[in-house]
Amino acid sequence: IVRMDKVNKHFGSLHVLKDIEMTVSPGEVVVIIGASGSGKSTLIRCINGLEEFQQGYLEVDGSQLVPHGKASAALQKIRTEVGMVFQQFNLFPHLSVLDNVTLAPMKVRGWSRDDATETAERLLERVGISDQAAKHPGQLSGGQQQRVALARALAMEPRLMLFDEPTSALDPEMIGEVLDAMRELAREGMTMIIVTHEMGFAREVADRVIFIHKGEITEEGPPEKVFDSPQNERTQSFLSRVL
Ligand code: ATP
Ligand code: MG
Repeated sequence: IVRMDKVNKHFGSLHVLKDIEMTVSPGEVVVIIGASGSGKSTLIRCINGLEEFQQGYLEVDGSQLVPHGKASAALQKIRTEVGMVFQQFNLFPHLSVLDNVTLAPMKVRGWSRDDATETAERLLERVGISDQAAKHPGQLSGGQQQRVALARALAMEPRLMLFDEPTSALDPEMIGEVLDAMRELAREGMTMIIVTHEMGFAREVADRVIFIHKGEITEEGPPEKVFDSPQNERTQSFLSRVL
């Protein structure tokens, strides 16, 4: 569902992504790890066109994103089919939880309010916050807000979900509830690309772990292999610091 071939991205003189090659198959859970500033966020932001890149080939769900691509039909389609959950929840503060979840399906997919509400209620139930539907985001805990963000993304019935450190802004006691919801999603077969510093979670849910160092993929493989016997010395020193 994702194919990246020699993707390069620069911010001015800074070469942030270097010849990135990555393929993600439907149903796969890929976890991206690496030090701060290594390019993890930039990489996943390229996949849904939030960042443009300068060279290379990038295909997402059958649509091609081109270098320097601005508002294209492919970009619109990808944004519709790819869900994203950020570190900061980015909910609409002036809307109720329910309206946060129903907005995009109604506006972008053209669903009726009844259909969107029914789906939203089911998703809020699934992430364990159906009792919060009438509240506003500011009245919820961080963990609850992040589960609303997850429900909101799922309401669009995405073919691929991207996560950028979804638990990094949360108090420790709330991390588990968000990871549980993500675990459930992985079990149901959702295709997911996850940037996280939660190494235990990564080991458990990942089909494949990708280690990125200064914009380059320097190690990649099943979690047991990457965590227990990393080949690259950068991976070894990173893991010795975080595990
Ligand atoms: P973290 O773990 O801290 O979130 P990261 O791996 O997600 O780090 P990125 O946010 O992708 O790293 O940043 C990669 C590099 O690109 C960093 O050196 C960063 O300073 C730089 N960078 C990111 N966004 C921009 C921008 N909009 N303009 C210029 N440089 C940027
Ligand atoms: Mg980041």
